[in-house]
Amino acid sequence: MSLTETSAFEIAAEVRAGRLRAVDVLDAHLANVAARESEIHAFNTVTADEARRSAEAVDAAVAAGRDPGPLAGVPIALKDNMCTRGVPTTCSSKILDGWKPPYDATVVELVANAGAVVVGKTNLDEFAMGSSTENSAFGPTFNPHDVTRVAGGSSGGSAAAVAARFASISLGSDTGGSIRQPAALCGVVGVKPTYGTVSRRGLVAFASSLDQIGPFSHDVRDSALLLEVISGHDPLDSTSIPQPSLQLLSELDRGVKGLRIGRITDLPGGSEPEVDERLSEAFDALAAAGATIVDVELPSMKFGLTAYYLVAPAEASSNLARYDGVRYGMRVEASDTNAMYMATRAAGFGDEVKRRIMLGTYALSAGYYDAYYGKALKVRRLISDDFARAYEKADVLVTPTSPIVAFPVGSKVDDPLSMYLCDVFTIPTNLAGHPAMSVPFGTGAHGLPVGVQVLAPTLGEAVMFRVAAELERGAR
Ligand code: GLN
Repeated sequence: MSLTETSAFEIAAEVRAGRLRAVDVLDAHLANVAARESEIHAFNTVTADEARRSAEAVDAAVAAGRDPGPLAGVPIALKDNMCTRGVPTTCSSKILDGWKPPYDATVVELVANAGAVVVGKTNLDEFAMGSSTENSAFGPTFNPHDVTRVAGGSSGGSAAAVAARFASISLGSDTGGSIRQPAALCGVVGVKPTYGTVSRRGLVAFASSLDQIGPFSHDVRDSALLLEVISGHDPLDSTSIPQPSLQLLSELDRGVKGLRIGRITDLPGGSEPEVDERLSEAFDALAAAGATIVDVELPSMKFGLTAYYLVAPAEASSNLARYDGVRYGMRVEASDTNAMYMATRAAGFGDEVKRRIMLGTYALSAGYYDAYYGKALKVRRLISDDFARAYEKADVLVTPTSPIVAFPVGSKVDDPLSMYLCDVFTIPTNLAGHPAMSVPFGTGAHGLPVGVQVLAPTLGEAVMFRVAAELERGAR
């Protein structure tokens, strides 16, 4: 098996044992970057020199009898909205042009301390707003399975980097589906953990009450490994849950016998027929493995998109107020300060970001606050209540991740509403703060990957990974 097809789990075990060199693992991945990055565009920055230095440090540690950690020598890609000290962090926006963070995000420190080798910063929809990575100021990321199609978004670069084996694993952020949807479209595993289990310190904020960082990988075990490394309490993030890191690797072989798997009977329709077929095969596989399938209702799920497109833009409008031409990145000079603010923001932000800022500012404005933002918060509560009722009957819920497979580049850019609909099954999770993950499960139209989503209640990652591991076995 080639070094780029070896799992992160196995790479780390071999490197720690001194049987494999981190520099050779890195070179194999960089060779793939050299061969295909020009047609995929997964990266905004490839940090080859820094990566070589950290791979050499890992090998030197092993040679000196020290243990580099659970991700020893594993090449990892980071979404370009996570702060990396001295390395440009752009959020794929012109407005951050030239900005280099003075510190590393907590997750970046954690993966580096675990021995991982950072190969680069990946492309995204500008400020993580989108579902196709076409809203990047630097141009789209293309799907490694078919380069005429999108990789999904907003973490499209992180999904494509793993799918194309430019990196063994990667990190993305998920505010309404931005890890799970591109994972589904690129045929890899993607996990959105419980809100508060992974530190957001150093993640550039989009919608702070929804944003979570999580892993991408080829298999469920590698996501479990990476999530064990990045989870845990961070006193520097006030929303971080004060509890130790998640223990997941020990759950993967426990099977699903006796578990209750919820099928949502009033799931919003409109999925491609092949996606529905894979979903019913997923239920069959879980039933065959000893789980009980139970029907549950989630009547408020259909309001998720509407509530999200008030809450997320409202938070974005205040988070993005800081890009004023004074503190970060670009400035367009003008006759006075107000004119400078306006000229900088007009030139620095793309259309989708401007659309969100205007929607959010409107929803929060005096006279509309109660009717829009306040009402959206009530719907958010209804969705949480519906989930709570469903989880009295079921241990986890299973849905498609995306209603459709990867779509052609350009096919939705002029129709924001149809783009928003990509996230109909992923958004409710973020509103509730729950964990959910996408697992590859066969193919749909045009032979493209389909992902099945496993949803669990707050801090239900252990049971979620058990079911995901079973789905992975069932998909083979
Ligand atoms: N696609 C959704 C949006 O555009 C979700 C994005 C995300 O999760 N960051 O807002």
